[in-house]
Amino acid sequence: MSYDYDKIDVPEAGEQITVGDDNELVVPENPIIPIIHGDGIGTDVGPAAQKVLDAAAEATGRNIEWLRLYAGSSAREKYDENLPEDTVEAIKQFKVAIKGPLTTPVGAGFRSLNVALRQKLDLYANVRPTYHLDGVPSPVKAPEKMDMVTFRENTEDVYAGIEWEAGTDEVQQVKEFVEDEMGATGVIHDGPVGIGVKPITEFGTKRLVREAIDYAIENERGSVTLVHKGNIMKFTEGAFRDWGYEVAEEEYGEDVITEDELWEEYDGEAPEGTLVVKDRIADNMLQQLLTRTDEYDVIATMNLNGDYMSDAAGAQIGGLGIAPGANYGETRCLAEPVHGSAPKYAGEDKVNPTAMILSGREMFEYMGWKDAGQLIRDAVEKAISEGFVTYDLERQIEGGTKLATSEFADKVVENIEELA
Ligand code: NAP
Repeated sequence: MSYDYDKIDVPEAGEQITVGDDNELVVPENPIIPIIHGDGIGTDVGPAAQKVLDAAAEATGRNIEWLRLYAGSSAREKYDENLPEDTVEAIKQFKVAIKGPLTTPVGAGFRSLNVALRQKLDLYANVRPTYHLDGVPSPVKAPEKMDMVTFRENTEDVYAGIEWEAGTDEVQQVKEFVEDEMGATGVIHDGPVGIGVKPITEFGTKRLVREAIDYAIENERGSVTLVHKGNIMKFTEGAFRDWGYEVAEEEYGEDVITEDELWEEYDGEAPEGTLVVKDRIADNMLQQLLTRTDEYDVIATMNLNGDYMSDAAGAQIGGLGIAPGANYGETRCLAEPVHGSAPKYAGEDKVNPTAMILSGREMFEYMGWKDAGQLIRDAVEKAISEGFVTYDLERQIEGGTKLATSEFADKVVENIEELA
């Protein structure tokens, strides 16, 4: 171990996940896995998910040694800072980790810890699966039609954090540069202005699209859709589309065809084992999610589009309490639910831990523990379809049994033991 941890104790039992010569993860049966419970409701959903993940590991003959890490308010108490080096270094060392939500006060002068973590760890793909669990109430008629995984680029776009505040010398310099040197006159209104820069690189695009295509091929998905607003932002979003097609065409040969080829050469029926790559403009895509849901499998998109789209897709399959996520880097995974820290419910043992539990399932799948992942999904689905639910779902269904966060986790554990 090269890093000298300051305030955390690495468990003596358990082994480290490593990377083999083929650049694949080598996962022992008793891995050390870091966990950050997080802020707000993180203190409710974190321990609940841990209990379920332990049960699924045990039921499949494995054992997890947890390593508690700190970020956000828990880190401020322990380290007097928001994101200690201990936390970043431990995730780098142990490769696979899970976290709860972290609070980012609006305009309060500190950067989003989530964005900082993703950037420091170069977790370039934010992966958000949206699939429907039997029994989950949904605002749409046929929620089971949705079975999609969104790969959202994590390090670029307007979230890259390159922006300047109104009234500063810096923003004035940028404004003058844009107007005087770059010729964009008559565009920025007079008076106070904030300016942000939206970088989209070939490198960032290609590694994201590659990750999405690899995932689609490995999981026998039918298509990857590049979602962009290239009709308006030609050199950023349009470039994303073009570089995305380039990866598909240059690196995957006959395994991948474009949508044009699908219709011109195959009359709309893709040959067995062939992946179709297509693209959609972001605003159209948001309505297609509702109107032609089952035509979409894997989505690859930039940061802001991906944020909007995956929340909208999440609503179709039951809302934020359900929606899991994970961030992938090069042989690195940090799983996390899509939802935030919902401070008004913090510590009430009330909210739905499903999103955090299913994020654990994503982590298990990344580790190759697909059997344990499936067990978690089945156990959660059984609980919900039998009407054992937390407040958010109970208010939408007839005759459900309202459970606390911890009670719901216990129910899922019971189901895991029964189904194993
Ligand atoms: P939020 O925390 O996701 O909560 C918004 C609403 O979603 C809640 O009031 C609740 O709705 C519902 N909800 C969220 N999680 C739920 C759960 N587990 N079970 C049941 N319902 C749930 O969004 P926010 O209020 O916009 O953000 C709060 C803070 O979280 C902000 O500081 C934000 O920056 C941060 N955040 C962090 C992350 C992250 O760490 N990755 C992600 C998003 C936001 P009802 O009240 O209608 O029941």
